[in-house]
Amino acid sequence: MTHIAVLGSTNMDLVTYVAKAPQRGETVTGREFRTIPGGKGANQAIAAARAGATVSMIGAVGNDAYGVRLRDTLEHSGVDTDFLRTVEGPSGTAHIVVDDEGGNAIVVIPGANGTVDHLSPGDEGLIATADALLLQLEIPLAAVVAGAEAARRHGVRTVLTPAPAQPLPPELLRATDLLVPNEYEAVTLTGRPDPREAAAALLEQVPEVVVTLGATGCLYLARGTEALVVPAPRVTAVDSTGAGDTFVGALTVALAEEKPVREALSWAAAAAAISVQREGASASMPYRSEIGAQFS
Ligand code: ADP
Repeated sequence: MTHIAVLGSTNMDLVTYVAKAPQRGETVTGREFRTIPGGKGANQAIAAARAGATVSMIGAVGNDAYGVRLRDTLEHSGVDTDFLRTVEGPSGTAHIVVDDEGGNAIVVIPGANGTVDHLSPGDEGLIATADALLLQLEIPLAAVVAGAEAARRHGVRTVLTPAPAQPLPPELLRATDLLVPNEYEAVTLTGRPDPREAAAALLEQVPEVVVTLGATGCLYLARGTEALVVPAPRVTAVDSTGAGDTFVGALTVALAEEKPVREALSWAAAAAAISVQREGASASMPYRSEIGAQFS
């Protein structure tokens, strides 16, 4: 079985549903409140585990009730949490207000994720045993760089989702094998409005790029090869939250299994297409058998 390590965030999403979000000084009555386990790191870990890999999560939760639930949620999806530390203080939270027009406003409080600013003893040894390391930008950049450089020292493929979009330091780009931005992130990182031009600009900094394009599919570029455009299956989307995390988790598993690139991209697109037809982020992520059924 392939082994994927994930270094990243775990958050409890605290989601309030309300007709119209309150203005400053205003109090309104909302309709519903839900707590939903999330964080891009944890979501990608669950996506990769359900797609069929052995997955280890590196990161931190707080010593509060959310921390217990975040760990349980990962374990329930088969993710190994031995390297997910429990630290003093609160878990990371995302405070989300969703209005009736589907608009949202979000405040993220990093909590325990903010303590992941370095590799802890054992992390590098774990990364060294993996087939790939998945990274995002919801923990301090110093740890993302340290993780990528550790992977590089051991010849482990690094896959970076540059979200939330922010300038990437040269040492991180040097240690990144595959960069997977969505269209917004690709444009923000390069200042090029056209995704193809943005991907070409990113390819000057990393050897492989996949730009995800929502319902359109994705664009793959690698140095010295023709660009590939892989369309997304046509489906009726009900909730695209977590589509990108599903895609990158499944793609990393497929590449680690040495599927040819076009097949790996189509397989990941099949996984993401299933997730958008269901409510939720990690809850909507498909298991390997479901991906196989959609793919064939
Ligand atoms: P993110 O969720 O990070 O914003 P995208 O919106 O680009 O990323 O979606 C990631 C991938 O999920 C796409 O490349 C595509 O394969 C799949 N996807 C997203 N939206 C849809 C949709 N409406 N129908 C089918 N596939 C979709």
